[in-house]
Amino acid sequence: ARSFGRKMAYATMAAINVQSPDVPPSERRVSKGTNERPRQSAVLHRSLKSPPPQVVSAKGKYLTFSDGTEILDSTCGAAVACIGYQNERVKKAMVDQIDKFSYCNSMLFGHAIGEELADELIAGTKGVMSKAYVMCSGSEAMESAMKMARQYFMELNPKEEQRTNFIAREGSYHGTTLGALAMSGHVGRRHLFKPLLLPNVHRVSACNAYRGMREGQTTEEYVAQLAAELDRKFQEVGPDTVCAFVAEPVVGATLGCVPSVPGYFKAMKQVCEKYGALLILDEVMSGMGRSGTLHAWEQEGVTPDIQTLAKGLGGGYASVAAMMINHRVADVLTAGTGAFSHGHTYQGHPVACAAALEVQRIVREDNLVSNVKQQGELLGKLLHEYLDDHPFVGNVRGKGLFWGIELVSDKKTKEPFPPSAAISNAIFLKGLKEFGISVYPGQGTKNGVDGDHVLLAPAYTSTTEEIQDIATRMKQTIHQTFASLS
Ligand code: PLP
Repeated sequence: ARSFGRKMAYATMAAINVQSPDVPPSERRVSKGTNERPRQSAVLHRSLKSPPPQVVSAKGKYLTFSDGTEILDSTCGAAVACIGYQNERVKKAMVDQIDKFSYCNSMLFGHAIGEELADELIAGTKGVMSKAYVMCSGSEAMESAMKMARQYFMELNPKEEQRTNFIAREGSYHGTTLGALAMSGHVGRRHLFKPLLLPNVHRVSACNAYRGMREGQTTEEYVAQLAAELDRKFQEVGPDTVCAFVAEPVVGATLGCVPSVPGYFKAMKQVCEKYGALLILDEVMSGMGRSGTLHAWEQEGVTPDIQTLAKGLGGGYASVAAMMINHRVADVLTAGTGAFSHGHTYQGHPVACAAALEVQRIVREDNLVSNVKQQGELLGKLLHEYLDDHPFVGNVRGKGLFWGIELVSDKKTKEPFPPSAAISNAIFLKGLKEFGISVYPGQGTKNGVDGDHVLLAPAYTSTTEEIQDIATRMKQTIHQTFASLS
């Protein structure tokens, strides 16, 4: 496995144009195509060593790079561009808003477009949620959710000062800012900053049928095991000190589209109710239609007290996210101080609201969520058909148009590839360079350090032919990545 890993790492480095010192000069090469890059960039890119390909335009579901290469964006960027690029209706809505006013201080003033967006969002919850707070990113939304949970208990009973703890799950991702990262369980994303992270976030296991269930265990037994674990955690932390239990309904970027097993969220909510804690659902990635219902919680038989949204909300036309609170939380604040103790310069940005409102209208008017459900079933079926038997595909899972493929070096033991092999990145590069497709790579799938997956999150507007095309390109990409390494 080690030499395979080494070979893989070199393959990856070569593909992204990073030369290892032990690659002989004769084998060193300057790659062409989408990897041709400017010599220097003033942008602090993710990699300071090899800047990424430059996008020059995008239309529909396709991205074009500076060398003229076109790729099918089968992940909507980071599960964002759900209605595709260059939608004329959204462009017009944004320009119309700019023509009225491009900014106002939404901490002091209201505006019609903000009211309309909040009405649209609350209506979409069929009366479950009460108020929406709009800001710029998923991380901000999660920070707001944490502060809202804390404020709720302080307003409910100022003597509840001890409610300072959160319980979140292993392997999760809730954002990159310090509060949201403290809630995140993914070791790889946390380790460098661990000393800076809040100590009051406690951890329970993720719900992961592939990695968490024992052989022969029933779903009911697994749910009971996880509920008992959560209950024990409340007891250990102090049942009356917990503000909220926090979870993604479908774990996206860090585990690769892992849905919960049936009955899981109902059981978790019962434990929260037993101790009076709130349920915060992070639907930044899995929400707004991505998992086949407008809200992922609709499939779980529970409703959240606080919910966050982002990516599909504005479809990438603006940087926009939201936190929604239910009546329980809103009523306590209204009866208390009457103000959320929080604020952002760009909260409720009118142009972002205009973009999100138009995207959401399009999703509703064009019945795109039912298309997600229908095409998602097809995508899942094809991925299972094409990849279940592959010797290095451990698991194919997902919901709606949100599917993950976990790669393992041994299907029987579920042993991952060594991190140095960078398998998911090799698949990403193979797809980009040879099959004209963009997939979303992730590492740390097993325990936050080891394990690889790639995920797909196609546009809600995808047709049957496009889904067949994506599944075929995905199959070829995975087959060819491993074939070129064997
Ligand atoms: N929560 C989840 C579930 C996410 O997937 C992400 C981003 O991937 C975030 C929060 C953070 O969102 P952002 O990157 O917009 O800050």
